Amino acid sequence: MGEFGDYFVKRIPARRLEQFHCGTQCGKYFDTYLRRNMYGNYTIVCPNCGHNHFRVIKDGVVSDERHDEKHGAAVKIMGLVSTVKDKMRKEI
Ligand SMILES: [Zn+2]
Repeated sequence: MGEFGDYFVKRIPARRLEQFHCGTQCGKYFDTYLRRNMYGNYTIVCPNCGHNHFRVIKDGVVSDERHDEKHGAAVKIMGLVSTVKDKMRKEI
């Protein structure tokens, strides 16, 4: 990883809460705890409807990419029913 990449990664907290919107399925909100050392294929499970969202996470940030074989086996993350309604949320 280059100099710029290291700088970018250090700005991401080691562990943070990210809110998602299960836009394609139940339309409800949910939370996940993401860690900076997460990298690869992750299956993020909506706690409201059980829908699996297949996404690539890079340095603890969910990207718009779907699972890619080059990242190997997927890790499953169970979402948490959201209690916060007024923050910006990412649709997955
Ligand atoms: Zn859902």
